[in-house]
Amino acid sequence: MNPHLAAFHALADDPLGAIDRLDMAGKNPLGYFSAYFPVELAMAFGYTPVRLTGFNREISHADASLQAYCCSLVRTALEAGMAGDLVALKGVAFTHACDTLQRLVEIWRHHKIHDFVPVLNFPADVSSDAAYEYFAMEMRLLADKFATHSGVAYDPERLTAAIRATNRVRAGVAKIIDLRAKGVVSFADSIAVVRAATLSDRAEFADRLDDALAAIGDLQGKPAKGPKLVFWGGVFETREVAEIIENAGARVVADVLTNMSHSFLGHLAVMGDPLETLARFYFERPVDATKYRQGEDRAERLLKTVRSSGADAVVFAELKFCEPFAFDYPFLKKRLDEHGIKSFFFEFDLWESGSGQSATRLEAFIEMLNA
Ligand code: SF4
Repeated sequence: MNPHLAAFHALADDPLGAIDRLDMAGKNPLGYFSAYFPVELAMAFGYTPVRLTGFNREISHADASLQAYCCSLVRTALEAGMAGDLVALKGVAFTHACDTLQRLVEIWRHHKIHDFVPVLNFPADVSSDAAYEYFAMEMRLLADKFATHSGVAYDPERLTAAIRATNRVRAGVAKIIDLRAKGVVSFADSIAVVRAATLSDRAEFADRLDDALAAIGDLQGKPAKGPKLVFWGGVFETREVAEIIENAGARVVADVLTNMSHSFLGHLAVMGDPLETLARFYFERPVDATKYRQGEDRAERLLKTVRSSGADAVVFAELKFCEPFAFDYPFLKKRLDEHGIKSFFFEFDLWESGSGQSATRLEAFIEMLNA
């Protein structure tokens, strides 16, 4: 662990504590699940968006409402909600992403976990102007829901300030990702930083990250001795596994994970109406497995990431029972095979730490690359 990033590890270790502290500080924590949730819009109404990425815990309450073949992200989040551990949240905002999350909205309401459960209907197919018009209208409706619930009127200046704060977070995370590629900070460090960002007031986080980056300095790092990897997939934040990978000699030089680069890279340039800027930004982002855009080739994006980072292999980080990303795997693997690029399918549950069979197999894959 880089000592300058220790505070981010501590935050990432205790997400429920972070939510409680935000509540006690009057920061109005608001839960959300998807990388497509426009955090800036919530911030403009005085909320602190907190991403729910599941928990490392056993299931006892949630199995009554969700079958065992749903992903552990959703099952453990529902478990936390039903156990009363998310009571400090002012509500949970849902964005249409996958069938499981779509069902979770009504389950969340049925169990009365929160009174405020707004939904942003984000089209799955983002190919057309009509889809954009629909989405822009949904964004305006979400702003209305926030205004009614918070009692704060929509103010373009507040939204612009929120966009500026998240731009600073994005810029800081981009530097961390660059330092990771150079071997200055570890994969586990980068996971802790992005997790801490989603558990914090974004402006305060940006200040803390700037301080940490200044303390780390502009080090050159060391050339990688072992294999260089690209991580691809949905949410992956198991730091024990990240450490196993690096202890085995590999370096993660790039990622396309929805909790990391996919969520944090980019910059919103506000020109004109900030709500329109925000809607355009989210609608036009590169798609992940939960969205489709005609003509956009995700396999090409993966190949480009491998080439530009100089990676030797790809690890597909696959949460068990996550259908959208599971459907992605066969065609992506086929394209990698056609280009002679090795890959590994790393399937995991959130309650598995670094001791699971999958982690042992991943270690063996790295040893094979090392040979
Ligand atoms: S996209 Fe996958 S991991 Fe995310 S909530 Fe849906 S099924 Fe679970």
